[in-house]
Amino acid sequence: MEEKIRKKHVAILGSTGSIGTQALEVIAAHRDLFEVEVLTAGSNAKLLIEQALRFKPNTVVIGQEALYDEVNTALEGAMIKVYAGEPALASVVEMETIDVVLTALVGYAGLLPTIKAIEAGKQIALANKETLVVAGDLITALAKEKGVNINPVDSEHSAIFQCLVGEFHNPIEKIILTASGGPFRGKNRNDLASVTKADALKHPNWEMGAKITIDSASMMNKGLEVIEAKWLFDLKSEQIEVIVHPQSIVHSLVQFEDGSIKAQLGLPDMRLPIQFALGYPERLPSDFERFNFMDYPNLTFEQPDLKTFRNLALAYEAMDQGGNIPCILNAANEIAVEAFLQEKIGFLNISDIVETCMQKSSFIAKPTLQDYVETNKITRIKAQELIK
Ligand code: NAD
Ligand code: MG
Repeated sequence: MEEKIRKKHVAILGSTGSIGTQALEVIAAHRDLFEVEVLTAGSNAKLLIEQALRFKPNTVVIGQEALYDEVNTALEGAMIKVYAGEPALASVVEMETIDVVLTALVGYAGLLPTIKAIEAGKQIALANKETLVVAGDLITALAKEKGVNINPVDSEHSAIFQCLVGEFHNPIEKIILTASGGPFRGKNRNDLASVTKADALKHPNWEMGAKITIDSASMMNKGLEVIEAKWLFDLKSEQIEVIVHPQSIVHSLVQFEDGSIKAQLGLPDMRLPIQFALGYPERLPSDFERFNFMDYPNLTFEQPDLKTFRNLALAYEAMDQGGNIPCILNAANEIAVEAFLQEKIGFLNISDIVETCMQKSSFIAKPTLQDYVETNKITRIKAQELIK
């Protein structure tokens, strides 16, 4: 019984993805501290079953309803409850036995489950940055009201969070988000006109899901992260700077009002920020590979190229306009990235589609949740039309 109180009971939304599987590695190394309570996935039934048999959660949810029978049959003997479909993906986070919800699913699909989790008073370990981009105002206000902490998993935001430990009462002058620059760093628009899906999926430093890998190549990922940082750390646009750092060792920096800058460093390994978000306020031991300065005699920094990588400039614009514009940026980008991955459009079309959708939008200054749902839906249709 005592053990039950001490262990954190974790729900992982998107357990079969890049973040989800690494989170399970972290949990496997700290079985005395964490218990897997819920696992959810979109369509990878096979891996979800495997994970469920290994980690013995109370409940699993598979997004695609057609896969319910497969999962249910496989888990019948294991006393694990199985549900399927979107409503179950959102409501499962309300289970009383959950302490922490790790949002590791990709895209707008994370919005409703995150809101439900916060409403139910669950602590959040947030990987799903799109949720904060779409509705950061609603999410942060709700979290405040419910006394819920949102611990960032994104490596840059985790770096800032780690720099802020012990400094939460000290105002931030600015933050500096580092960006690797992705596989196309140094290229111009002419070069980018002909890059392929395979080129874009070759990230130099990180192994991630397809959507975020394309976002990294187009710098939209950094744009989304700028907006994510605004909401997580309550910052103004001019307090958020982006600098390209191709080695991905300095994960981000905070500058305080006395001019002092704190940075967090380490090898690129998402297990560290995942573990920090789940274990906070403790730092847990790990056997992750250690950083050696002698392997990296040159850590370099350069200005981002906003002319070539339009998406980063568009994200700042969307953030400055506020209201439902970041939601539009995100929805248009999700559709454009999907189309690029299906080889229906070229790489430069991604930012063209985002920009056109932003220009053609009807602005809502203080959107409600329903407004965001509508904006997302309408923008996706508009973006699809631009692809034909
Ligand atoms: P991924 O594509 O590898 O995994 C996504 C997971 O979500 C899978 O388990 C999938 O089954 C599930 N999923 C997808 N669509 C769904 C839907 N409609 N409904 C329910 N479940 C669905 O993605 P990832 O790289 O792990 O990224 C997850 C999130 O974390 C993204 O928001 C990404 O931006 C963020 N993030 C990822 C990394 C990384 O290193 N991978 C780093 C920082 C932030
Ligand atoms: Mg990141």
